Amino acid sequence: MRPELPAESGDSLDWPVIEGTLWLAAPDGEDCRAAVEQAADLLRKGKLVAFPTETVYGLGANALDASAVARIFAAKDRPADNPLIVHLADAEQLETLAENIPEEAWRLAGRFWPGPLTLVLESRKIVPAQVTGGLDSVALRVPAHPLALALLRQAGLPVAAPSANVSGRPSPTTAAHVLEDLAGRIEAVLDGGPCAVGVESTVLDIRGGRPVILRPGGVTAEEISAFLGKECQVVSSLETCGEVPASPGLKYTHYAPKAPLYLVQGRPEAVLSRLEVMRDEFLKRGLSVGLLLSTESAGKLGLGHMEILGLKDDAATLAANLYGALRRFDQLGIDVILAEGYAEQGIGVALMNRLRKAAGPRLIEVE
Ligand code: AMP
Ligand code: MG
Repeated sequence: MRPELPAESGDSLDWPVIEGTLWLAAPDGEDCRAAVEQAADLLRKGKLVAFPTETVYGLGANALDASAVARIFAAKDRPADNPLIVHLADAEQLETLAENIPEEAWRLAGRFWPGPLTLVLESRKIVPAQVTGGLDSVALRVPAHPLALALLRQAGLPVAAPSANVSGRPSPTTAAHVLEDLAGRIEAVLDGGPCAVGVESTVLDIRGGRPVILRPGGVTAEEISAFLGKECQVVSSLETCGEVPASPGLKYTHYAPKAPLYLVQGRPEAVLSRLEVMRDEFLKRGLSVGLLLSTESAGKLGLGHMEILGLKDDAATLAANLYGALRRFDQLGIDVILAEGYAEQGIGVALMNRLRKAAGPRLIEVE
């Protein structure tokens, strides 16, 4: 066992400290044990620890400790009514936080956990209102990243964890992204390298027997429909259930880089020529232009700073590279970003959902 961390001072002999935040590098295999133990210890003491999941890095706190959870909101500048996802080490723990769990939830958990699927279920009273945003439901998932699972097991706690970014910024897919946003605001980050999926989990509400995707993500509607043998609806980002948005997070602009992002969709040749016209127009005005493109399109548009996401038909790679590319535009101080649209199939649905949110009203359809 390593000596106990004097967490209050942020002073550790064992780990590098970045502006007061411990950087717990966790290499593969046995070597990660000390880092995981340190991270788990901090969580048990009510501290904030960012950790890798297969989707994006999460900012974790003991989900049953209301004051620790309140600190997540402060660190992220997150609106208090936007509830958090609680991460569990295994599906058996569902019953400790949720009640009246439908049989389909157990089946989905058996099929998709550990993995990028979050289930919205009836909350037990034990879950603090800070976690649920005052709703009577709670969002739960078992993540697939080995370090996340090791941390959850070691801590022996349910861990509430939204994405580990300042609210409104692109989600972090590396520990460096986390430190960029939160160094000095959180106690530690557990570094497990880049996240494989790169976009957030699918949030699925299955209360009432009608599966509704509140946020598209790593598990697709097609997969859920095929597994349950019934249609799975996807709520569009602005759709609401009466007065209250189906998922409070939907009403906030997420995933946005600092520069305005224009998203151009339509026939590929028409998209390319519109991007070219727009790029030239912005360059003429003296603005720096960032192009967010597929490998295919990058070869055809030479001028401007380019971020290449991957081949058009490889939606998983496009999605995995998205947030890192948006953050690099920010770092370069790019004035305006021009992006192309992709096919909305499989994880392409989640990719386009995030691109649209980043674009806000700057969405252009071409024939
Ligand atoms: P984040 O972890 O930052 O990716 O955000 C969590 C997402 O899950 C947000 O979009 C929340 O609105 C959504 N969410 C969390 N809890 C619930 C819940 N009880 N009901 C509906 N959506 C939820
Ligand atoms: Mg988030």
